[in-house]
Amino acid sequence: MATALTHAVMALPFAPRDSDGKVCKTALAIGALLAVAPDVDVLWWRLLPGGHMLNHRGLTHSLLVAVVVGTLAAALARRLVRAPLDPRLSLYLVACMVSHGLLDTFTRSALGVALLAPFDDTRYLAPVRFISAAWIAPLRALSHDHIAILGQELLWIWAPAVAIFVARGALTRHRRLSSLVPGGSVYNRLAVAPVAGAASDQDPGRGR
Ligand SMILES: [Zn+2]
Repeated sequence: MATALTHAVMALPFAPRDSDGKVCKTALAIGALLAVAPDVDVLWWRLLPGGHMLNHRGLTHSLLVAVVVGTLAAALARRLVRAPLDPRLSLYLVACMVSHGLLDTFTRSALGVALLAPFDDTRYLAPVRFISAAWIAPLRALSHDHIAILGQELLWIWAPAVAIFVARGALTRHRRLSSLVPGGSVYNRLAVAPVAGAASDQDPGRGR
């Protein structure tokens, strides 16, 4: 598993926004919760044989569970979230939960992820694995190793996730501003707008 904080960060890049570019915090919080949720299986990982479909990285990490839980969560969230109330919310919440299983396949662990459970108990790992596996035991969460793993994740996952988040916010605000100005981008309008008091290229005093 990647660290829980890093799984939660996966909810950031495509968090729903309103037309002003403001993030819907309720949807983001639910998305972060779902992105961490598959690791609930660590509660019983010592009770079942390794590789069991219900053990760690088994059914809770599957695509099917992500679709079912994400869709149900979206149905419940529509009572709490003001906007946007469209199918994109379901897609977002499902994607947050799917991100967990996919991210786990990139960890340097011998234990793969049962993405297709319960139909197929094959455990999948990505061909390139660049994230060290985090400790399952909660008491290891503050160990030197765990903090070093978090450092790797900051570079490989947090940085691009935050960059996409910031870029999407800027793009949404740009579109919002553009829509307020007839005739296209507000930046284009500003570029051609005359500035009061500024000298023009057509001024008689220029061109010498
Ligand atoms: Zn996991």
